[in-house]
Amino acid sequence: MKTLETELLVIGGGVAGAYAALTARSYGADVVLACKTPLMGGSTRWAQGGIAAPLADGDEAAHALDTRRAGRGLCEPETVEAFVREARAHVETLRDLGVAFAPHGTLEGGHSRPRIRHTGDATGHAISLALGRALGAGEGPGLRVLPGAFARNLRLAGGRVVGADFLTPGGPLRVRAGGVLLATGGFGRLYPVATAPREGTGDGLALAYRAGAVLRDLEFVQFHPTAVVAGGEAHLVTEAARGEGGVLLNARGERFMARYDPALELAPRDVVARAIAAERAATGGVFLDLRHLGAEWVEARFPTVTATLRPLGLDLGRDPIPVQPAVHYTMGGVQTDARGRTTLPGLYAAGEVASSGLHGANRLASNSLSEGLVFGARAARAALAEGALPLEEGEAVAAPGADPAGLATLRQRLGAAAGLRRDAAGLGAALAGWGLSPAPGDSRAALEAANLALIGELVLRAALAREESRGGHFRSDFPREGTPLHMVQWRDGRGARLEQVPVGAGVLRFSA
Ligand SMILES: Cc1cc2nc3c(=O)[nH]c(=O)nc-3n(C[C@H](O)[C@H](O)[C@H](O)COP(=O)(O)OP(=O)(O)OC[C@H]3O[C@@H](n4cnc5c(N)ncnc54)[C@H](O)[C@@H]3O)c2cc1C
Repeated sequence: MKTLETELLVIGGGVAGAYAALTARSYGADVVLACKTPLMGGSTRWAQGGIAAPLADGDEAAHALDTRRAGRGLCEPETVEAFVREARAHVETLRDLGVAFAPHGTLEGGHSRPRIRHTGDATGHAISLALGRALGAGEGPGLRVLPGAFARNLRLAGGRVVGADFLTPGGPLRVRAGGVLLATGGFGRLYPVATAPREGTGDGLALAYRAGAVLRDLEFVQFHPTAVVAGGEAHLVTEAARGEGGVLLNARGERFMARYDPALELAPRDVVARAIAAERAATGGVFLDLRHLGAEWVEARFPTVTATLRPLGLDLGRDPIPVQPAVHYTMGGVQTDARGRTTLPGLYAAGEVASSGLHGANRLASNSLSEGLVFGARAARAALAEGALPLEEGEAVAAPGADPAGLATLRQRLGAAAGLRRDAAGLGAALAGWGLSPAPGDSRAALEAANLALIGELVLRAALAREESRGGHFRSDFPREGTPLHMVQWRDGRGARLEQVPVGAGVLRFSA
């Protein structure tokens, strides 16, 4: 089998992975960056609204407070502090790399100040292009980029992660590495209606869990309130549309948000999403209305959304747009500390794959692109701080593939049981007989299906065990908030384990 050796293996080429690789390279490290899509695939390039960072001196405390408010008691203080302290400088680095941010920040739901940097409504695309260019310029012996390389499993030696195995267009590949940094994005595609791209199959979480890492708070799934669903795909209408003054109307033409939250259309996403679902059920539809802002202004401010909706027969500036909630972001992930270290030696994680403690029970809008920068850089530095370790072959922690034909049914079951509203009966019923048939062979599709089935089961178990409502997790049989505890899951010699642990307990179990 073809084998590569490197100081740092980064798996995933979105904002977190690309920025981690560039950071490690800037320290002179030898880096391999592998991603299953072309470079800069993943959610990053689809991000519309922008990137949040304290905009002015003195905004750090307010940004931290807004982040903690959205997180409903489950943000990790050290992580939030590092984030607000460092995010602005990294956003400036993006500007230096050529991202042409508009001069003024905008407002989005849950933010007390206008601190969202954007480049119109295609901010993720601009960031992807800039990071892709920077990686391209650095590619050479010390930075190898492997597009189309699908990580199928991690490799362990004495409890330490020492590399990974890949399926690549040129055949199987093994990478032996001093450190492995997961930046594989979230698991939105576990749900039937999701704004996340097809590659959002939760691979990194599944790889880490099988290797023994702790996953945290998987039950917190963020629904974006305003997606336009057509032809089985959910098209996002950025939150900035409400930030700029767009209003929500029910099918009776009533502006209803005052009945749900004093912040109206800019209430936290979980509140707006549940309000929209309730009004859709009660009146038959909900519409986003921007007509009062003027059609020309709307088209100039939101050219990407305008162009996406036009083929669907909708004009953003002239029509009330029918909207509904869709899965958008997964708060839970591989547990890390504020330096990006997971519970397994040799394994680091950053971006949406990680539960860094920034988002708690609900992500504040536009905090995720900047999270990728701050903790991509931190995780890369933590990995390099370990110093040069002897490279080892290790043992593969592999799992067989599953039949993707059963995925549509599994997604419907999960969507119905672990959607905007959950209860014990629905979650229990979805868990009974959960799973997919084994698949012959070893294709990427079969391995992704096995990953989705595994993470789906863990989401259901966590949602069932959390007998309270908080942030992105609403239990109709337990509608109140209880004690703020994290839900951690891992696997050891005794099988699948689940526990609730207090905030601030840190990364509890280094197995070495
Ligand atoms: C439509 C949309 C709009 C959004 N708008 C905003 C916004 O305005 N502001 C904001 O802050 N956030 C926004 N978000 C969220 C944000 O885009 C993501 O959270 C963020 O980009 C995640 O970055 P990441 O680097 O962690 O993962 P991603 O960008 O998803 O990248 C994951 C990478 O991992 C690779 N990968 C996955 N599995 C494997 C594997 N097994 N082997 C190898 N490679 C693998 C993929 O190929 C990809 O390169 C939006 C999300 C969506 C879907």
